[in-house]
Amino acid sequence: MKFTVQPLIESPDALPLSAPVQTIERSCDRIEDVGLRLEDAKAILSELQEQLVRQQLADHLQRHRPCPCCHRPRTIKGYHPLRFRSAFGDTELLSPRWYECDCEGRPAKATFSPLNKILTAHTAPELEFLQAKWAAHLSFAAVADLLHDVLPVDSCLNGETIRMHVFATAERLEAELGPEQFAFDAGCQYEIEGSPEPGPPVTVGLDGGYIRGRERQRGGTGCFEVIAGRSIPEEGPSKVFAGVRRIDTKPKRRLHEVLQAQGVLPRQHVTFLSDGGDTVRELPAYLHPQSEHILDWFHIAMRVEQLSQTARGFRGTYDSPMSKEKILKELERVKWFLWHGNEFRADETLTDLMFEVDGAIEDREARRPAHLVLKKLARALEEFGTYIDNNASGIVNYGERQRCGERISTGFVESTINQLIAKWFVKKQQMR
Ligand SMILES: [Zn+2]
Repeated sequence: MKFTVQPLIESPDALPLSAPVQTIERSCDRIEDVGLRLEDAKAILSELQEQLVRQQLADHLQRHRPCPCCHRPRTIKGYHPLRFRSAFGDTELLSPRWYECDCEGRPAKATFSPLNKILTAHTAPELEFLQAKWAAHLSFAAVADLLHDVLPVDSCLNGETIRMHVFATAERLEAELGPEQFAFDAGCQYEIEGSPEPGPPVTVGLDGGYIRGRERQRGGTGCFEVIAGRSIPEEGPSKVFAGVRRIDTKPKRRLHEVLQAQGVLPRQHVTFLSDGGDTVRELPAYLHPQSEHILDWFHIAMRVEQLSQTARGFRGTYDSPMSKEKILKELERVKWFLWHGNEFRADETLTDLMFEVDGAIEDREARRPAHLVLKKLARALEEFGTYIDNNASGIVNYGERQRCGERISTGFVESTINQLIAKWFVKKQQMR
């Protein structure tokens, strides 16, 4: 059986009928013969794209050739080659250059390229999007393979060209980002009150983490700090963003734009849940009029769990006042106070526990393994105490919030930063 695929153009000024885009001649004896193959589909798409682009642009030129005032066709100065890249292959075009008409009142012999008005970039936005999207999940070379497998993209597209395209897209987006501001105030009180009725609250999780860099700079550790976040509206999809603190000159603007992109209104309630790191804590300050800043419960629970893990390694004797069970019980109490937002009692319990551990360290100078565990625990307890002190203002009554159905954490499964770091930089990828 033979199939011929040919487009039918329905337009009063269409150019002469186009050529067939593909002929498929095939018997049907095996499952492989049923329907289109990827090779057929790619050939059809690329030929169809070629014809579509040429017809559309020819039509555009034809309509705009006459001068809008006197309707005489503008004179052609010449042509220059132009390559339009798309997900369905590249099209080589000749872009004309026209003289301005005398009646348009421009300086004599002024010329312009009419195609530049529509082809503002030489790559179709969809192809840019596909490259950026897949490059966020796979290595550049794998993206090239993937695109070549399913689409008739240009044969020259490879990992290196994709890397360049993605960087160009990133730079363009970066340039479109507005200037950094110390505060984003959404207008005066009168304007805020007059703003439209907002939707349900939005939660933003903010998290910091360290990634090992490809190059280790002299005198440095080779690591750089990444701040990642996830904005979760009550309805609709969440949005993830990230930046490198050392080089990001507009972190606040970036976060602001994420909220704007999700349609957050001035009177909408925004809850920032952070991991409590210094840099992450500063970021959402003065960003939104209706916001609160809470220490993410996930991070408290995780830290208490780490302390308990350390304590489980301690083998005290029963005649000693210090036992593993006692330490674990005290840690549970600390966690319980924190869960109820009682930072004062949590701090008290923690301080008492620290005193006891310090006392036990003095007693057990001779017994080495237990001694080491206690020393490690003492250090960890002190760090946790500082962490709680620094974040006292962000500790709330989590129990009550949860009963009211309000969010207390963004990282029930995994925190955003772990998700990003684990996915991109640790497990199996070499994408740095
Ligand atoms: Zn004219």
